[in-house]
Amino acid sequence: MTREISEQRKTVYYLGIVLMALGGILFATTFVTFAMHFGDSSNFVSNAKSGMFRAFGGMALLIIGGIVRGIGARGLAGSGVVLDPEKARQELEPYSRMAGGMVKDALDEANVNLGGKPEKVVMVKCPACGKLNEEGSKFCQECGRKM
Ligand SMILES: [Zn+2]
Repeated sequence: MTREISEQRKTVYYLGIVLMALGGILFATTFVTFAMHFGDSSNFVSNAKSGMFRAFGGMALLIIGGIVRGIGARGLAGSGVVLDPEKARQELEPYSRMAGGMVKDALDEANVNLGGKPEKVVMVKCPACGKLNEEGSKFCQECGRKM
């Protein structure tokens, strides 16, 4: 089982980003040409058509790019394109590992010890009052008698 993201998936991921960028540019040019042709009604209809086409084309590219990027990042099974829970788990492993690692770091930071057994505390009975004190205590918590 590989923990690395394959080259193909990286390629798909970057392809998705490129598609999104193209879509964004295409979408943006719509406003640029609209501004340039503003007030020019000579071929309003064709300009409007071209603008609509680019606006929708740009949006479609943005959406497709986003999907492609997601598939690249999480894999075909991991992103739900292919229904295969076992493969999905494998493909998402770098992400779960990352998330798990971050949780572990946070717990380490907070000094929480997961899975480790709690330190065993030995109690010693005070000979005078019978109160249980931690082993190594110099004086009884209850009556103050020297242990
Ligand atoms: Zn005592």
